[in-house]
Amino acid sequence: MERRSFLTAAAGVFSLPSLSAAIQNAASAYRRPKLKITDVRTAMVRAHGLQVHVRVYTDQGLIGQGEATDSAAGVVPLIAGFKRMLMGRDPLNVEAIFESIRTGGIFAGAQGGQYVTALTGLEIALWDLAGKALGLPVYQLLGGKVRDRVRMYCDSQHHHPDDPQAKAKLQEIEKMGFTAVKFDLDEGADPNRWDRVNWTASNAEIDRMVKEVAFVRGVLGKRTDVAADMHGRYDMTTGKRVARELEPFKLLWLEEPVPAENVDALREVRASTVTPICVGENLFLRHGFREVLEKRAADILMPDIQKCGGLLEARKIADMAHTYYVPVAPHCVVSPIGTMASCHVCAAIPNFLVLEWHWIPRLELWREFVKEGEIIDKGFVTVTDRPGLGVEMNEAAARKAQVPGTGWFEA
Ligand code: MG
Repeated sequence: MERRSFLTAAAGVFSLPSLSAAIQNAASAYRRPKLKITDVRTAMVRAHGLQVHVRVYTDQGLIGQGEATDSAAGVVPLIAGFKRMLMGRDPLNVEAIFESIRTGGIFAGAQGGQYVTALTGLEIALWDLAGKALGLPVYQLLGGKVRDRVRMYCDSQHHHPDDPQAKAKLQEIEKMGFTAVKFDLDEGADPNRWDRVNWTASNAEIDRMVKEVAFVRGVLGKRTDVAADMHGRYDMTTGKRVARELEPFKLLWLEEPVPAENVDALREVRASTVTPICVGENLFLRHGFREVLEKRAADILMPDIQKCGGLLEARKIADMAHTYYVPVAPHCVVSPIGTMASCHVCAAIPNFLVLEWHWIPRLELWREFVKEGEIIDKGFVTVTDRPGLGVEMNEAAARKAQVPGTGWFEA
């Protein structure tokens, strides 16, 4: 007899105190899965930039998968170097593993960059593994979900008024169901530039940027949000002028008008405008975001969850931001595996705004990359209830983008 039906029957026979005793006697202690890490291997894919896929193997056959990106060129040898700190360990103690590798690398660059990105790919694989071992979706391990669907925005480069395709392409993005788009304002080849090295924009260059935003805003419906990215390439005078001139368009945000590394400069730009300023795709760990929040230097944070430290670290960054009433709109340029990993975080944090999708030029690869097929439905991802991340790589499709000359989960 199943425990539940036994207890129901027992409730009919015994009084409540007896029922309580029956539960005490019938319940056996929860047996936590015991696993040991036996190997960690990687594979490199080039789709939107470079992605490193990470697999953690265990003595009971369960495998966890993760994905790292952007500052990923040195991730493969870094993860090989982490192996000695992983073999034989219990993969379910994710924080303990993360903290030991992070603090173990203090003199090896563990404050940011490729070291943290390597640790990120591993951390995500450990969460996938933990979810599979416990039979729970990852969002459940991050505190449970506050929303079922994650709003996506489409990063596209159809913003040139002279491009005869641009209007139709933007309308197609809206028809796909997206409620927000983003495009790049920085243009190194702009003929209006006087100097290829100095990043003070000329009047004509700023006019070009304003025209592009006006064009995109004019094509899209009023309800669709528009964000624009300056990639941290400009100086303060330009950042301030562009943010001010774009105020009438009510952008969802202006991204990194100046680099995020000088927080005081960033704060000065933010204080000069009502255009919301968004930063953070090149910041690492909680520590990278602390000063930005303390100095009120940004309106929106955009940690890259496949780069900044992983799923729990992103949750911690979002929670810090939440105490300042700052929303989070994560940067995301990875495959459906990393995107679904990000969605587990976005589903779990109250102050989530919108998540990036950057694979419209690789639509065919995107749709076949995981066995589950397309994960975006009319501009939203419904976070899966399957254990772990809930998506599995379609090897044949993923290998179409394998970096030539590299191994495929061989070491
Ligand atoms: Mg950006």
